[in-house]
Amino acid sequence: LGTIPALNLELRARAAEFARTHVAPRSAEIDQSREYPWDIVEKLAEAGFMGMSIPTEWGGKGASFLDVCLVVEEMAKACTVTARIVVEGNMGAISTIMAYGSDAQKAWASKLVLAGDKPAICITEPEAGSDATGMHTRADKRGDRWVVNGVKHWITGASVSKVHLIFARAHDERGNFLGIGGFLAERGQKGLEMTRREPTMGLCGIPEGELTFTNLEVPDDMVLRAPGGFERGFAQLINAYNSQRVGAGTVAMGIAAGALDHALAWVKEREQFGRPIAEFQGLQWMLADMGTQLTAARLMLHAAASSRGPNGSLFPDPELAAQAKIFASEASIKIVNDALQLFGARGYSRNCPVERMARDVRMFTIGGGTAQVLRTLVASKLLGWKLPQTRGEAPLAPRAAAE
Ligand code: FAD
Repeated sequence: LGTIPALNLELRARAAEFARTHVAPRSAEIDQSREYPWDIVEKLAEAGFMGMSIPTEWGGKGASFLDVCLVVEEMAKACTVTARIVVEGNMGAISTIMAYGSDAQKAWASKLVLAGDKPAICITEPEAGSDATGMHTRADKRGDRWVVNGVKHWITGASVSKVHLIFARAHDERGNFLGIGGFLAERGQKGLEMTRREPTMGLCGIPEGELTFTNLEVPDDMVLRAPGGFERGFAQLINAYNSQRVGAGTVAMGIAAGALDHALAWVKEREQFGRPIAEFQGLQWMLADMGTQLTAARLMLHAAASSRGPNGSLFPDPELAAQAKIFASEASIKIVNDALQLFGARGYSRNCPVERMARDVRMFTIGGGTAQVLRTLVASKLLGWKLPQTRGEAPLAPRAAAE
């Protein structure tokens, strides 16, 4: 597991103050209006919370993922959308670019993220969800550029993100398949447009959209090249999801922490049978379970976040990240659901913040690798086997695979 370094309490307090002052008063309105909170983005950038994980030579603070988690939790207690913007401004696509990008790519992405951009990562397609390698989007080499065509959906930040990391099947000039590669593009480029916005259940202030690429031209120097090249690079590029998973798990855990805070205040205030409902042991034990699950989730996420760095690893350990996301997302859904229960009918009202939290938190066992698919990843690590999911392919132990 490694060790979890001491928490930066000053940073956490600063994030909590920011969330209290700038975010909490806006969260209900962001949910209802479904509008991207540009005013908060501007303040996040001013406060240095966007791009804080970018190394100092590129203008960031070189903050650890553990530091990012502290900020994300505080934002998520107040507003899920804001927390997700902080995740994407520090983990996921931006950390992949900082790990494998050329100097020009790093300079381009850092500048935009430090100014407040939340990069979009474009993997999922209508026919390729959990089976991401089944994607159809293709990039064809034409001289010094690549021509990208295809459709992605459920892209967080579609139409608001500037930096796009697009995964596509790369083909050379003769049409030979080279492997799946990462292609960088910017909002406003010809051939990149949002063709539909998904009417989501929660997370309403950030668009989840369908992106269509029509002869989108990406210069060769905007191809994100992992050391394994096109042939083996996809697995390396997709490693970015380990940090994104820790970030997403932390958003879920932060929502649960916020819901528990609301519930604790409410059970002391609400009286039935002539006494505060907090005096009923049935509710005390619910609260105890909620707090216990929350602490376990937080510790797993902090351990996963801290697993980047030792031994030169560029991203959190895949097994720890997957375990933390499975546990945190499932525990948080239960915690928030129980918090809603403690509010009685009031919890079922759109006027209660826990109602919004219950809709928001539901996503986190789905996006960024479902809880089922992540269990397969964990099982594969535990067994030391590859576990192909296509019909007809048997599980491959490393020894059997070599024979
Ligand atoms: P499917 O793959 O169709 O799965 C359906 C069900 O089958 C699930 O329960 C799944 O767990 C289960 N299942 C599938 N295969 C297996 C298997 N082998 N074993 C066991 N169970 C299995 N994608 C992006 O590229 N970029 C984004 O920014 C992004 N943001 C998202 C934001 C939100 C709010 C959501 C909801 C999704 C987002 N996604 C994004 C997409 C997300 O990554 C996919 O939804 C996810 O990978 C699952 O794919 P799917 O929805 O097509 O489900």
